[in-house]
Amino acid sequence: MKKRVRLTFPRSAVRMPVTYRLAKDFNVAANIIRAQVAPNQIGVLVLELSGDIDELEAAIEWMRTQDISVSLAKSEILIDEDSCVHCGLCTGVCPTQALKLDPDSFLLTFTRSRCIVCEQCIPTCPVQAISINL
Ligand code: SF4
Ligand code: SF4
Repeated sequence: MKKRVRLTFPRSAVRMPVTYRLAKDFNVAANIIRAQVAPNQIGVLVLELSGDIDELEAAIEWMRTQDISVSLAKSEILIDEDSCVHCGLCTGVCPTQALKLDPDSFLLTFTRSRCIVCEQCIPTCPVQAISINL
């Protein structure tokens, strides 16, 4: 089975080879959807985990014992329509074309059903109009 998780690392765990440990110790494959990790800072990793249900649960428990915050909640991208200036920058990084500029109106359109919540659009917005609810 598959689970999408968002990991938040404390500074002390940023250098931990988590995906290697998941594969080696729990037989869980981790597909990295987004990574924002810098030495000596809090890190965020969005992963899609694949494996046996019991091993997935054990892997998540192990991460929590390492002081890694694991969020399993279904996340959604939110666009603040009052803030958006329709510059189109976010459309350039969206891998699924969930974000597009309407060719007639030049206004941003967001098709939620196409969004895989990869979060790549969030840092591109110059007016912070894109966020995620966790
Ligand atoms: S989260 Fe990813 S898929 Fe969803 S709108 Fe942003 S860039 Fe596109
Ligand atoms: S980058 Fe921000 S301001 Fe520009 S179109 Fe996307 S959501 Fe709107």
